[in-house]
Amino acid sequence: MSEKNLVIGVDLGGSHVYAGVVNMKGEVLVKKETDIDLSHNADTIIKESIIPVIKAAIEDNPFLKENIKAIGMGIPGNLDSARGICFFSPNFKWRDVYVTPPIQEALGLPVFMLNDVRSAALGEKHFGAGKGINNFVCCAIGTGIGGGIVCNGNLILGEKEAAGEIGHITVDPNGHLCGCGNYGCIEAIASGPNIARRGREAMEADKESILWKMVNDISEVDAFVLFKAAKEGDKTALKVWEETGRYLGICFAGIIHTVNPQRFIMGGRVANAMEFFLPALKEEIKKRARMVPPDSVEIVHAGLLENAGMIGAAALAYEKIGVL
Ligand SMILES: [Zn+2]
Repeated sequence: MSEKNLVIGVDLGGSHVYAGVVNMKGEVLVKKETDIDLSHNADTIIKESIIPVIKAAIEDNPFLKENIKAIGMGIPGNLDSARGICFFSPNFKWRDVYVTPPIQEALGLPVFMLNDVRSAALGEKHFGAGKGINNFVCCAIGTGIGGGIVCNGNLILGEKEAAGEIGHITVDPNGHLCGCGNYGCIEAIASGPNIARRGREAMEADKESILWKMVNDISEVDAFVLFKAAKEGDKTALKVWEETGRYLGICFAGIIHTVNPQRFIMGGRVANAMEFFLPALKEEIKKRARMVPPDSVEIVHAGLLENAGMIGAAALAYEKIGVL
């Protein structure tokens, strides 16, 4: 099979970096990974982890090296993607880091970058649950809540590339402190760690909950434990998920009135518990999104699961070089 146009998709995650050779069908042909030592500065991470892992993927692919046309990167943080600058990444503690210029220089290929959830939205658009859908919103729920908005077929970045930061929409003016510094963001209620926090609070008020039997110490309760307890029918866990759905619904109703998507595409680990928060989420949308026909918005699981980060970054590179 001829693979004339190939790109490298780079997924910069919590403590790992993955680089993959991805073809135009969104298939990962080669995958390399390495650990990142978060105690190192940005320069060292780029030179000693990111560049070598991309090099390894380029060298070790079974096709012609010359067929690799570009590199795409998904990065968790606020970026000026045109200039290749990461203004702030809470995960890496990066501030004003030039990311793409040293990589471009070392490898001699065009390098493009985008916020990780925004590039994941491009992956869904070309290869996943957004295929053939002109208006959709990706919502990734894990440690935080990220988003990507595709409107009339195009990913929206906005003036400062913050379009899609749906995790920081306020849904409770008196709510909990968010990592961004605001109070009551949806992320401060419905991200994995905040679902866990609410779960622990709810459990304190219900000594009968089976959650007490599932852990040695209350501090071990996380979103996954709450998911397992909900599967067992635990009332307290089910209530926490229902409340999660309600707040997500409030958030989504606002998004519906702003960009009117046909579909929300749910990714991230917390989306695995969707069966427990979806009914309340839908009910809340029905109640609050009054300017669209009822049930006109679908909520579905992401189409790309494993390798979604690399495939999304590859989709970005393909779009940038004009072949997708
Ligand atoms: Zn926030």
